[in-house]
This record gives sequence, structure tokens and C-alpha cells, in this order.
Amino acid sequence: MTTQSTATFTSVYGPVTSWRYGQSLGIDPIGLQSTCSFNCVYCQLGEIQVRTSQRHVFVPTEKIIQELHAFAPWDVDVVTLSGNGEPTLALNLAEIISQVKEMTHKPVLVLTNGTLLGDRDVQAALSLADKVSVKLDAVNLDQLQRVNRPVMEVDWQKIWTGIQEFRQGYPGHIGIQTMLLTPPNQLSQDTYMQLVRSLHPDEIQLNTPTRPKPLTHQLDGRGNHTPTESRPYPVQQLKQVSGDVLKAFAAKIQDATSIPVRCAPR
Ligand code: SF4
Repeated sequence: MTTQSTATFTSVYGPVTSWRYGQSLGIDPIGLQSTCSFNCVYCQLGEIQVRTSQRHVFVPTEKIIQELHAFAPWDVDVVTLSGNGEPTLALNLAEIISQVKEMTHKPVLVLTNGTLLGDRDVQAALSLADKVSVKLDAVNLDQLQRVNRPVMEVDWQKIWTGIQEFRQGYPGHIGIQTMLLTPPNQLSQDTYMQLVRSLHPDEIQLNTPTRPKPLTHQLDGRGNHTPTESRPYPVQQLKQVSGDVLKAFAAKIQDATSIPVRCAPR
């Protein structure tokens, strides 16, 4: 277990406005170096600096709780664990969630890429959260490698099995978040609908990368930026789909599965 230097790092940020969850106060259990088991082509943090699926304590729970005090009375809809990478990599996830809930009495949400959901300790930690939003961009290994670019030990089937296992035991609200970079072909649409029908999440959230991606790591990617807001560092425009494509796919999913689907505002 390691703890990195946290001298210049603030673990609580925002609030930011989330189209999915309202006013959200962010908690970052990852720290100064971006760390994730994915390196998504659209990641707002830029290229991920540490690519791993190994869990560690990155930010001590006491630091997070101490910094959370400054945001009292936490007048937000939700407190969200996300930040500078994949929050389930934080070995102190359970401790953070329970202490944040005890202190703020606000619903706690975790945004996860889903790669560690098969891990019993991660399942137990996440079961303390009120809401979990799980990424599902790819319906097969080829898409996973092109869009999410996972670390070597992560494969599509293993992720999907983990998501299913987690879904079966989780008592809270579970959302599936899907990013579309290009219009999905018929086969991908059909496979996606089969998958979500079998999983039956409480909600599906469809998005497309409207914001450009920083070319180098940027901690401020944790926050919200409007698509046209100027950023003081080089960025790259990304492929995206139109609002009509998002809405048409949302309507198809909803018709085929009866699962509520929300689209990001465009
Ligand atoms: S899972 Fe999230 S933090 Fe990790 S690379 Fe993808 S977008 Fe970035």
C-alpha cells in the first residue's frame, strides 16, 4: 500500500453542474497523478499518467474529510467520487464513502469505468454508495481496445462479468453511461440492447464528446467546461455524433428494453 505526496493537491472540488445528477460536489480519491485502468481516447484529463489496475491508498481519508469541512453545509444534490482517474482503485473507497455520508448526509455517487466490479472488496465498498454510474462504451474487445484502451490484464468479458455480478448484489441506483464517438452500426446497437436488457440498470445515460481533449494531463479536467470555453493548454477536437443520432438511439433502446434513457444536452 502506498501513499503519494499530496502537498499541492486538493481532494474536494466544485460544485460542478452535472446533467445527470444536478449540483455535484466532487471528491477525488486518486491524487495529483492521473491513474486509471483505462486510457479513454476522449478522457478530459488528457493522456492517463499511471495506467494500472492495482489498488492503493492514494489520498488519505483524513485529508479528504478535513478538506470537506470547508464546503459545509454541502448545499448540493450529490457528492460524487470521481476525479483524477478511476475511484475504485482507491483502497480506502469504503472508508471514504461511509465517512462522507456520515458527515454530509448527502447521497453519494461513484462514477466508475467498471473494470474492478468483479472484485469482492470493490463490490462491498460500492454497496455503501447510494448511486453508481458504470461506463459501458464497448460491446466487444475490439471496441474496448480502440475506445477505452485498457491496461493489459483487463479484457471485455471480465469487465462484463464483473458488471453483471455487481448489478445482482447492489441495492442502490445503478446507471450505465455510454459515450458514442461514431454512430453505432446495427450489430453494435443490437448487442448493446441485448446487454442492457439482461442487466436492467435503473437508467442509461448517452453522451458524446462535445468537449475537446487536453493533449497533456490536466487536473482541471475534473471540473466542467463548456464545449466552446477557451482552455489555457493545447486541446484536440474529438469525433462526436449529432444530437439526432443520440436521441434516435435513445428512443430505440427505450422501446426495446423499457429502461429510461437520458441524453446529454447538445
Ligand atoms: S475511465 Fe474515466 S478517468 Fe479513466 S481514462 Fe476513461 S474517461 Fe479517463
